[in-house]
Amino acid sequence: MRLVNLEGRLGLDVAGRFVDLEQASQGRIGSDPMAAFAAWSEIRRIASEQTVEGAGRPILPPHLGPPVPRPSQVFAIGLNYRDHAEEAGLPIPAQPMVFTKFPSCLAGPCAEVPLTSDRVDWEVEQVVVIGRETHRVRASNAWDHVAGLCVGQDVSDRALQFADKPPQFSLGKSASAFGPLGPALVSLDEIADRDDLKLHCWIDGESVQDSSTRNLIFGVPDLIVHLSRYCVLRPGDLIFTGTPGGVGSVRNPRRYLKVGETIESEIEGIGRLSNRCVEEVAGA
Ligand code: ZN
Repeated sequence: MRLVNLEGRLGLDVAGRFVDLEQASQGRIGSDPMAAFAAWSEIRRIASEQTVEGAGRPILPPHLGPPVPRPSQVFAIGLNYRDHAEEAGLPIPAQPMVFTKFPSCLAGPCAEVPLTSDRVDWEVEQVVVIGRETHRVRASNAWDHVAGLCVGQDVSDRALQFADKPPQFSLGKSASAFGPLGPALVSLDEIADRDDLKLHCWIDGESVQDSSTRNLIFGVPDLIVHLSRYCVLRPGDLIFTGTPGGVGSVRNPRRYLKVGETIESEIEGIGRLSNRCVEEVAGA
């Protein structure tokens, strides 16, 4: 099933049409997209009964918000593809390199991204959504703790990230709308090969990243084992699993996002985000 957040309401995407889950459950399921995790088995039952003919209005992607709008934690992993570590001139990590994107950076699949400097960069990523409380799991059980997958963009202001030594990842990757997520939370049964998903990023139609999640250094089970050894993961928590090679800041010449450019981010079987870069508006 494909769970979406349409104008703040939890629903299913059934062949591009919206099924409102509060209505479909006669009010048993809340309208808040965060209600999905407590109601997972009922949502599964409702999803299994849906037909395209019975579904509601067409889903317009610009009306979608992030499918998980308020996770308690957002983990992100640096240097988790060999080609990205190499292009950055850094050694392959011996254990996952973990930082956070503060949850207020999450944005919808078509949200505009205000550029906070002239050194803002793109990073397409697979995002794992945790389905149940997870503490100290084994690798063999780790996928059982995953509700599904999303496409994510780990937008990164390199000026802020590398303003000083040591670099500070979290704030530079957490400006408003620096975490586009979606277009849906896709449950694992919809995904043909969860360990080998093609991911791709284009800037104004030009291909800049093209890889597969089979190239992850630390795969999803490894990441869940590592994170849950220290932290209790909760339903709805997100893991941005890292970006492959092809980011702008290590190109020759360097390339950064410009106002008016569109970042498109896609993962096979999950969908595509399309986020236009806009000028940052001065504060009040
Ligand atoms: Zn990243």
